[in-house]
Amino acid sequence: MQWEDITVVELETKRTHCDCCQQVTTHGAGDLLWDEDFIGWFTVNFSENSASHSPIIKVYVGDWSDGAPADSRWGVVVSWHSEGCSLLDWDAEDREGNDLFTCLNRDDVLGSEFAEELWAMVDAVITKDSRLKELQLS
Ligand SMILES: [Zn+2]
Repeated sequence: MQWEDITVVELETKRTHCDCCQQVTTHGAGDLLWDEDFIGWFTVNFSENSASHSPIIKVYVGDWSDGAPADSRWGVVVSWHSEGCSLLDWDAEDREGNDLFTCLNRDDVLGSEFAEELWAMVDAVITKDSRLKELQLS
């Protein structure tokens, strides 16, 4: 799977003020398609204050049809910074009481076959989501 072949469909965008610095945080969501088939969806969160708040991209894959079990769909957290992208672990508060999907942490993804697909999806988001164009990473 090459990022060039992945279509990014931008869905809702919400802007809020950060609790700590009051600068605008943008929350965006979207779908990822490959050859017109749904392969996953994602959220992006980034602040005007990108020096203190790295943009976060969450990618969700698997079966997101209504009523599909949590162990048939997965979520991954990626931090985007000037040197590139890094996998993160989910926070305890994200994992706690989450019966919607399976949280994949860094070690679950690194070196797996899924990792390559994930980076293609992340590259597609970074390259094609127009909301990220306003972001200047320092
Ligand atoms: Zn802040």
